[in-house]
Amino acid sequence: MVDVTVMGAGAFGLSVAWACAKRGAKVRVIDPNGVGAGASGGLVGALAPHTPENWNVKKAFQFQSLIMAEGWWAEVEAAGGVSAGYGRTGRIQPIRDAHALTLAKARAESAKALWQGKALWEVVPQDSLGDWAPISPTGWLIHDTLTGRMFPRRACAALAAALRAKGAEITKEGRPQGKVVWATGYEGLLALSEEMGKAVGNGVKGQAALLRLDQSQAPQLFADAVHIVPHADGTVAIGSTSEREFDDATSTDAQLDEVLARAYAAVPALKDAEVIERWAGVRPRAKSRAPMLGEHPTRSGEFIANGGFKIGFGMGPKAGEVMADLVLESKDAVPDAFRPEASL
Ligand SMILES: Cc1cc2nc3c(=O)[nH]c(=O)nc-3n(C[C@H](O)[C@H](O)[C@H](O)COP(=O)(O)OP(=O)(O)OC[C@H]3O[C@@H](n4cnc5c(N)ncnc54)[C@H](O)[C@@H]3O)c2cc1C
Repeated sequence: MVDVTVMGAGAFGLSVAWACAKRGAKVRVIDPNGVGAGASGGLVGALAPHTPENWNVKKAFQFQSLIMAEGWWAEVEAAGGVSAGYGRTGRIQPIRDAHALTLAKARAESAKALWQGKALWEVVPQDSLGDWAPISPTGWLIHDTLTGRMFPRRACAALAAALRAKGAEITKEGRPQGKVVWATGYEGLLALSEEMGKAVGNGVKGQAALLRLDQSQAPQLFADAVHIVPHADGTVAIGSTSEREFDDATSTDAQLDEVLARAYAAVPALKDAEVIERWAGVRPRAKSRAPMLGEHPTRSGEFIANGGFKIGFGMGPKAGEVMADLVLESKDAVPDAFRPEASL
């Protein structure tokens, strides 16, 4: 007898399934397209925090999730024997002018309290990083030690292996049994919009590229709004575009070339690296712009885990645990701003 059926085998569905399976629930995951077939099958994998200021529920939830990530991925890897490529390798950002420098220094102070001594946000001289430092007009950089990285499609495979090792079933077809969690990405948001007769969310396409360049232990960079993420396997991911209008969910085009050009301008060391993959996917964005977690608005015994938008992997561990609390133990620790009602 299955206790929980999760519809959708992306970052959110697999995280909820894993959190439930760890607690001893019998879990079935159903996805007609297989594991990591949606937005989660990509290659960027920045686990990067919001700025440490103007604290709110979303920032606090994300902070807890990022702090949980190291132990979470270690447990997943140990259970299933597949690496997610996780590493808390930190992040560097250039500082463009005197105003931004003042702000960065203020954030270094606020991080001390908000990040509870668990991670640092500091302002460091550019020459402390050699070739890998992005060009920074002020000569100063922000370095934070909270940011991590993992390789999204491998993280999905790692979660799937861990789930199978715990006896969960992952299938392309089957019948939902027990409690049902809908983690069906942007398609799920469109279906819910249709059901509710109003827009509760949509898809935002993103394109990204993978380069062959071994910087595996270097911090990731965020420069000119581009994520540059060194992976453990000797590749570097660069992303992403953000497109609300699109005809083809999986094609890449000149908009990705423009992202690459911005990355090359910020970090000339990237120019000589071979581009080995161009990829696109569609992020699930709830109307509230926050994750959508909680009971299904119309169906008893059914739940929604969606709206990961641009930080679905960063939110995954905490979202999974909160949903397992709700689904298995009727313990509702979902922030109000994250409930489906916030987008209805
Ligand atoms: C270019 C790009 C870069 C990104 N970079 C980052 C990043 O650096 N860091 C980060 O944290 N996040 C990032 N994201 C966002 C992250 O990928 C998403 O938030 C996350 O993948 C969403 O996971 P999900 O499980 O909700 O959706 P998805 O991964 O899309 O999974 C939904 C699944 O549901 C399945 N499905 C649909 N309908 C049904 C149905 N009726 N029944 C069963 N299954 C169904 C689909 O096949 C799909 O596999 C990025 C996204 C993109 C596109």
